[in-house]
Amino acid sequence: MIVEREVDYIKKLGVEVVTNAVIGRLFTVDELLNEKGYDACFIATGAGLPMFLGIPGENFNGVYSANEFLTRANLMKAYLFPEYDTPIKRPKRVAVFGAGNVAMDSARVALRLGAEKVYLVYRRSEAEMPARKAEIHHAKEEGVEFVLLTNPVRFLDDGKGNLRAVECIKMELGEPDESGRRRPIPVEGSEFQMEIDVAIPALGAKANPLLLKTLPDLKLNRRGYIIAEEETGMTSKTGVFAGGDIVTGAATVILAMGAGKKVARAINEYLKWKYWDVSGFIEQ
Ligand SMILES: Cc1cc2nc3c(=O)[nH]c(=O)nc-3n(C[C@H](O)[C@H](O)[C@H](O)COP(=O)(O)OP(=O)(O)OC[C@H]3O[C@@H](n4cnc5c(N)ncnc54)[C@H](O)[C@@H]3O)c2cc1C
Repeated sequence: MIVEREVDYIKKLGVEVVTNAVIGRLFTVDELLNEKGYDACFIATGAGLPMFLGIPGENFNGVYSANEFLTRANLMKAYLFPEYDTPIKRPKRVAVFGAGNVAMDSARVALRLGAEKVYLVYRRSEAEMPARKAEIHHAKEEGVEFVLLTNPVRFLDDGKGNLRAVECIKMELGEPDESGRRRPIPVEGSEFQMEIDVAIPALGAKANPLLLKTLPDLKLNRRGYIIAEEETGMTSKTGVFAGGDIVTGAATVILAMGAGKKVARAINEYLKWKYWDVSGFIEQ
């Protein structure tokens, strides 16, 4: 509702909203700037490309990235199936891999979709979990079972490509790694299996390369995010600005909204400068 109100307000200001337009496929940024008559572009494409475990069996039916699981369940209203025609597997036994806020969200949504058992599998201990304390508390309170110091090794199917189980290995903590957290080390011979029918890797997300691949002259940092000036969102390419998760990496709504406001002012200044000559602002 709040988002709808914001969108309506922006439309009332005179903004034309073009939906179903994937930039980098339908048009490139260069086409928008050089052929379609746009004077500036603001890239706010987020960090929506989910990361996976990279273990055998990750393509079995029943393995969803947290993004897909939450998008289907909530945004596409699969919880109202068949009133809404988005299918989602109604899970009985679920394992969520990871321990950030999105992992907690996914585990709790799985419970609310009717799962009998939801495990949260994490390779370190609770002390190292990146999720907010409140999220951890609420997940436990709602009945999520934490399986700590455990890492998945491979998924197993029923012979027809449907997820049946996950094989895991126990871990122990060694010396701190570059993140400052103690490094998890596999305990040899400690493999065991858990029966599950849905698995949800919730390992974070990164920049989707779709649009960025069509902008070879845009400078990215070593993690693949756009390098932009903090105060203006100005990038290495003239007329191209960027903000939100695509600059900071996965962060928060409030930071993305703040960037949008700052960059809007900077684009306004840029356009004034672009169309300013000695006699004043040039009418277009
Ligand atoms: C499950 C989950 C829970 C979260 N919970 C919270 C929370 O509780 N509080 C909080 O503050 N933050 C939360 N976050 C983080 C928050 O959602 C992001 O930080 C924020 O949405 C980033 O805003 P953004 O505008 O940069 O990108 P996004 O909100 O990701 O928007 C990017 C948009 O660009 C579109 N897009 C991408 N590529 C293209 C393209 N090539 N062409 C056209 N359009 C494109 C996408 O479809 C998307 O609509 C959560 C994130 C996730 C995944």
